[in-house]
Amino acid sequence: MSIDSAKRTAIALFSGGLDSVLAVAWMQRLGHRVHPVCFSAPYITADRATQSARENGFELTVVDISAAHLKMLEDPVHGFGKNHNPCIDCHGLMFWEAAKLLPKFGADFLISGEVLGQRPMSQRRNALQAVDKLSGHADLIVRPLSQKLLPDTKPIRAGWVDKSRLLDLSGRGRSRQIALARELGLSYPAPGGGCLLTDRNFSLRLRELIFMKEDSEAQIRLLRWGRHFRLAPGVKLIVGRDKADNEGLVAEDFPGLWFRLRDLEGPLGLLTEPDPPADVIALAASILLYYSNKAPSPAWVKYAVDRNHWREIWVEKCPEDSFRPLLISLDKE
Ligand code: SF4
Repeated sequence: MSIDSAKRTAIALFSGGLDSVLAVAWMQRLGHRVHPVCFSAPYITADRATQSARENGFELTVVDISAAHLKMLEDPVHGFGKNHNPCIDCHGLMFWEAAKLLPKFGADFLISGEVLGQRPMSQRRNALQAVDKLSGHADLIVRPLSQKLLPDTKPIRAGWVDKSRLLDLSGRGRSRQIALARELGLSYPAPGGGCLLTDRNFSLRLRELIFMKEDSEAQIRLLRWGRHFRLAPGVKLIVGRDKADNEGLVAEDFPGLWFRLRDLEGPLGLLTEPDPPADVIALAASILLYYSNKAPSPAWVKYAVDRNHWREIWVEKCPEDSFRPLLISLDKE
């Protein structure tokens, strides 16, 4: 069977990590045109993929699949991993979404950096089969790093891809990938960091939000920033831990009540209820003051809906044993 690899184009699921970088580069090396696509959601950022693509000279497309991902997250067929990460369903969904892009890119098949046996939940042989089934396009998937160990799919049977030049990587070790990446002059980030669903504190906060039936997309986006306190049903306080948290909170543009110190720089607070009763305002202000190390106690705290027309409240730092039970965190920082 003739190999017309140079004529066939692939769409790659691309996280920016070592395996996906290597999968893209390997297929390019075999003469294929490859379009890396990163799928984003409120807890899956494209930052790492964007940087990695830039460093490796890949032209990345980022596609927001928040609505579909949140729907899947309600009841994933294959359940969750150690945290709130539905990795099998997630991979299946990403292939499904990638397949929708085939006509747009004039592409013929799909690839990923999955490695047989590398991840306990999502990359065992039967897990890969489950991913294939969910994708709706099992016969179009090629996994360049492990394909020699996997059943042939259409791109191989039809001679679009030369199987003999694909790889036979398996297992958790990464030394072969690292050696190949070095050989190809590739750049890749340290493992982890792209998906917050694998973070145990983020997962705890997300599960709490789901339990309280407050898991709107906007509320889930807020989970990325700061410390979270449950003050009442429908009312959470978020306190920025640093400048990045403060800026992240502001960027979310959530319609709540904002808090900050009147006379000093310090953390920004956001109450998810814009019009709470006076005792809730006082509690939120006193928690914010607790996390303002340089501030005296008592002190003035400002609050406003629009961060322009501030009102003021005179409060003491909240005693730790009063607010610790309200903190949604495994670590109780
Ligand atoms: S770690 Fe996150 S992005 Fe990756 S497969 Fe699992 S759920 Fe999806």
